[in-house]
Amino acid sequence: MVSEPRVEELNFVLIPLLAASHIIPMVDMAKLLAQRGVTVTLVMTPINAIRFTAVIDRAIGSGLPIRVLELHFPAKEAGLPEGCESVDVLPCLAYRRNFFTAIDMLQDQAEKSLAEMKPKPNCIICDTHIAWTAETADKFQIPRIIFDGMSCFNQLCMHNLYIMKDQNQIPESGPFVIPDLPDRIEVTKVQLPGAFNPATICVQDIRDKIRAAETKAYGVVINTFEELEQRYVDKFRKLKDGRVWCIGPLSFCNDDSLDIVQRGNKATFDKENRLMKWLDSWQPEYVVYACLGSLGHTTVVQFAELALGLEASDYPFILVVKSGQRQAPIENWISENGFEERTKERGLLIRGWAPQVLILSHPAIGGFLTHCGWNSTLEGISVGVPMITWPLFAEQFLNERFLVDVLKTGVSVGPHKIVHLGEEEKYEVQVRKEEITKAIRTTMDKEIEGKERRKRAKEVGEMAKGAVEAGGSSHLSLTLLIKEVQDFQLNQSA
Ligand code: UDP
Repeated sequence: MVSEPRVEELNFVLIPLLAASHIIPMVDMAKLLAQRGVTVTLVMTPINAIRFTAVIDRAIGSGLPIRVLELHFPAKEAGLPEGCESVDVLPCLAYRRNFFTAIDMLQDQAEKSLAEMKPKPNCIICDTHIAWTAETADKFQIPRIIFDGMSCFNQLCMHNLYIMKDQNQIPESGPFVIPDLPDRIEVTKVQLPGAFNPATICVQDIRDKIRAAETKAYGVVINTFEELEQRYVDKFRKLKDGRVWCIGPLSFCNDDSLDIVQRGNKATFDKENRLMKWLDSWQPEYVVYACLGSLGHTTVVQFAELALGLEASDYPFILVVKSGQRQAPIENWISENGFEERTKERGLLIRGWAPQVLILSHPAIGGFLTHCGWNSTLEGISVGVPMITWPLFAEQFLNERFLVDVLKTGVSVGPHKIVHLGEEEKYEVQVRKEEITKAIRTTMDKEIEGKERRKRAKEVGEMAKGAVEAGGSSHLSLTLLIKEVQDFQLNQSA
């Protein structure tokens, strides 16, 4: 009789999309799986690997069975500038097509390595965007489980929007309700992601290929927890024949303080604990943390509105100034306006990469001004803070609706339409400083409405913690996912 493979004999191959915000949750997932005894092979490319080395080496050093498979990234062959291995460093969006060509070119190398791998691969967990993995999973006769970093709420919105699109039912202008959802969710076309509201550089053919590969996936793993969005989880699970595993919040797997500081990159602001001392100096729930993610950019004019809006709120704040080619004009504005000097008593600017989860976890943080990327959204939810929402692009307006309309823990700064990634210069200012100040004050308010919002946020934060503990829903979901792969293997061998 063939027996079920032992957990230690399993090898899960994790293939993230090469972008910081897609690699971060996959590295967390690698640690979680390895903590359960599964061997994890994390597929990386050299430059991306450097960024995550410290955290991964520490995990391996602590005895976790994680291995890194480094593939050569064919930047030059695909017409990309040398060293351009990640979406967040593409000089402009015109290179997006080349980037996906390079991603496609990884298939042969990956398959050669998988064929030689010991223990042999039992399952691929890959980012949805890596369409070739559908063929690879077929070749190796193993399940391919996809991960696209979105919530079940979002998955369902997208599913229903695609139905509307196919039936030509998305109105060109004015608000409309996304059908067949547990809550009334109203949006406009200009707030929708590129699939329904195309950017100037159209990549619909790439999107179609990804969607086709999505339909072939064995199942979906989601960075969420059941209690957060149970009605949406149930509906989505039904749509996917039960093969949906909610294993988040993934950020909770970082219990080593250095891992929290270095999550996603070496933080540029951990010198002499100045950040912690600064945070310690404020009373609880009083500081606003403002960060617009790893990919998005603001023009200098829009940045000025944000900075001045924070200043006028009268609350202490941390504002992240992203590094890169757009930083110089912003730095010019900061010094010409005297902003940093003027606000130094209660404002802290972090240049480059902020240790976001570390900051959010500090008791002084009372509000999170976020662009509503799902990682950030869930990180804010997990620490139980109310959020000031400023969606920029992709599915972020949908995440905003989730925070504002479903959870009721968010207050919008009020942008009306998407600013597609890379097209920031094309748009006028989306949000004025007065709107930012107003949303901050409403969020930080300690009167009835603000108090209620904060209480709700805290309750959800507690649920998040419970979900990842032994016996919690996400803990159980991970057990079931591993069991599913064991059973699949057993059926193959029988
Ligand atoms: N992040 C961080 N420091 C920064 C900027 C971003 O740690 O200075 C992390 C953040 O904690 C989150 C991820 O980068 O895990 C951003 O992902 P999200 O989905 O929120 O947005 P995206 O970057 O994809 O727009």
